[in-house]
Amino acid sequence: MADIRIENLRKEFGSFVAVEDSSFTVHDGEFLALLGPSGCGKTTTLRMIAGLELPSSGKIYLDGEDVTLNRASARDIAFVFQLFALYPHMNVRKNIGFPLLSQGMPKAEIRQRVEETARLLQIDHILNRSVSGLAGGDRQRVALGRAIVRRPKCFLMDEPLGTLDAEFREIMVHELRELHNRIHATTVYVTHDQHEAMAMADKIAVMNHGVIEQFGTPQEIYAKPATMYVADFIGSPPMNFMRFTSGLKSGDRSILLDGVDVTVPEIHQDMAESELVLGVRPEHIRFSDASALRGAVYGSEYLGTNQVVAVETRGGLIKARVPANRSFQIGERVGLEFNPAKLALFDCTSGRAVP
Ligand code: ATP
Repeated sequence: MADIRIENLRKEFGSFVAVEDSSFTVHDGEFLALLGPSGCGKTTTLRMIAGLELPSSGKIYLDGEDVTLNRASARDIAFVFQLFALYPHMNVRKNIGFPLLSQGMPKAEIRQRVEETARLLQIDHILNRSVSGLAGGDRQRVALGRAIVRRPKCFLMDEPLGTLDAEFREIMVHELRELHNRIHATTVYVTHDQHEAMAMADKIAVMNHGVIEQFGTPQEIYAKPATMYVADFIGSPPMNFMRFTSGLKSGDRSILLDGVDVTVPEIHQDMAESELVLGVRPEHIRFSDASALRGAVYGSEYLGTNQVVAVETRGGLIKARVPANRSFQIGERVGLEFNPAKLALFDCTSGRAVP
């Protein structure tokens, strides 16, 4: 078992709060992505879990044991940094085995563990090669091998693919997830890239200014964003927002948007006279001549299997993802129809989803 549990974890640097009272659990074998823009506190959270930064308050439990004050070396955690630094003068076998050698493990055992690890990563055929001549992908695998050979309780990774070009990054995203499926090591993975998080993680914590705005599966976070911030951060293009003054009472299912009746999900509290925001993802909009909610095509982006069409409405610019089999003229009038089951409602003041 290697659960990671953090409770009310907080980090202040002087008067600046980098991480604000965060709590979550990563269950044994789970892959958690800490996702958010630069400066939101992802790395600081990870460094506290690793024992490289002392929290200002709060607790960290590893397998139920309070490790908040334990040194990094006493935590049995592997930390994989952004740069996979290898020892250039050593071959692949020595690079992978190095952490075990420094632990004083007997040579025969090291040999066996290194070979097992290399097989897992499918690099057993290059064990005797020098790392300096290796291609990028193999270098990454060797670096991963060095992290997993110790069989730590969990892995902490800080933007490990950050320096790679886009194509190779995509390959490594799949490899990392594959590896995770094989070894099921509890993993916390820091990234600012929503695609990486969505593709790899079992759970995602979306962070903003030191606060975890939402913690959930990729599906929950995409389909039921807890805040406008999350709805805007996840998805490309992001969710469309349309502001309106609500006459909604508990149980109502209809709003007036631009003078047009629009069916929305049922809410469970009175929101009459409130400023609300209707959220709709681009793929939940279709064009329909019958719809009274109209706008003018502003531009379109052809994406092969579909296209994203921007429509200027009285409520602002709306982006719709629609089939690519029809082309649109700039200025053409179109009617917009939303899938009522997929709409989101947010409170304009708090930015939170309306219950
Ligand atoms: P990035 O992807 O840019 O690293 P991040 O989300 O990982 O972003 P952190 O590195 O955790 O963010 O930083 C959160 C905030 O805390 C930032 O504003 C940063 O400047 C500040 N910070 C981090 N470490 C320190 C420190 N040692 N002293 C002062 N401020 C710090």
